[in-house]
Amino acid sequence: DIKMSDTNLSAVLHSKMDIRMEEWPIPEPKAGEVQIAVHSTGICGSDVSYYTKGFIGDFVVREPMVLGHESSGIVSKLGEGVTNLKVGDRVAMEPGIPCRRCDLCKGGKYNLCPDVIFYATPPVHGTLTRLTTLAADFCFKLPDHVSMEEGALLEPLSVAVYACTRAGVTIGKRVLVAGAGPIGLLAMMSAKAYGASEVVITDISQSRLDFAKKMGADHILLVDTKDAQEMAGRVKDSLGGRMPEITIECSGAESAIQMAIYATKSGGMVCLVGLGPPEVKVPIVNAACREVDIRGVFRYCNSYQNALEMISTGRINVKPLITHRFTLEQTLDAYNAAMGGSGIKIMINCTRQQA
Ligand code: NAD
Ligand code: ZN
Repeated sequence: DIKMSDTNLSAVLHSKMDIRMEEWPIPEPKAGEVQIAVHSTGICGSDVSYYTKGFIGDFVVREPMVLGHESSGIVSKLGEGVTNLKVGDRVAMEPGIPCRRCDLCKGGKYNLCPDVIFYATPPVHGTLTRLTTLAADFCFKLPDHVSMEEGALLEPLSVAVYACTRAGVTIGKRVLVAGAGPIGLLAMMSAKAYGASEVVITDISQSRLDFAKKMGADHILLVDTKDAQEMAGRVKDSLGGRMPEITIECSGAESAIQMAIYATKSGGMVCLVGLGPPEVKVPIVNAACREVDIRGVFRYCNSYQNALEMISTGRINVKPLITHRFTLEQTLDAYNAAMGGSGIKIMINCTRQQA
């Protein structure tokens, strides 16, 4: 019952702290693509970073860029040759299209493709817009009972699911998650779904920890010191004197990365999801001598369908993560709320509101 748009209102970041709501051209789907009437777009930390700083690492906003990449929508037009979808299909949108031809793509690591086109990463436009286009095979059809907001949340959930795969979470493992933002919360929930016996989650914010507890964390631990060894000791205490075999770092903070190494059981695994300062000091000899493996995580690879199955079967309930809702027209309010940091996930409804 969504009214297809004949204009294309878009949230365009011109430079830092300068988002303008503009009518942009309606994009036409190329061969193999579909046009999508965007329904829901979540705000990610990276969107906020582009908004407040104008860059993330080497990615700098030099030309006006449409924000947003955590989206779902309704297929509104088919490009040439598309047979897996039809107009009206409700879909989640995987927002990174790799080249499909390089050795990394062909080797099954398409998330590492050097030529990936990732939405809302300069200079590629994002999905905080009424209408966009996407490769048809990066659309995931949502069952009727899965909401459009849940479809948008498949993006961060895919990061968490992929992190658990990289970390080797399996039945009976004790897992430490550092950082209780959306990614850490979803990593905690995914680890439990993977069969982890106990999950401890840390944060510097008590309110985020209280939220984590409500979402099913077995133990919560407030970080009130930069002494990583002290915190590692408290992690062990929280697990009744046993160390976690696996740590998933989701804060990017230097002291949290240090703590992740010290806290992980010998022979275990530290998975780095959080992206903080490009260089940090870490107890690498401690990791080496205890054979604590350190693995990176970059976005996700073949994770969307698995994440969708977990939502559609009710094994993972992401709905409570949404704490604020705005319309596309209210994008500035939404970003200001995101900067305030009071909520967890802020969701923007991109459909034209019916009078
Ligand atoms: P967020 O900022 O909402 O959450 C980070 C949390 O870490 C906050 O709650 C913060 O209070 C907490 N924190 C800060 N210092 C801490 C410390 N010393 N110990 C424990 N917790 C601490 O961000 P998010 O959206 O949840 O994303 C988490 C991280 O994951 C970010 O660094 C983000 O850039 C990164 N990320 C990486 C990938 C990837 O592909 N590798 C994908 C998405 C996000
Ligand atoms: Zn490639």
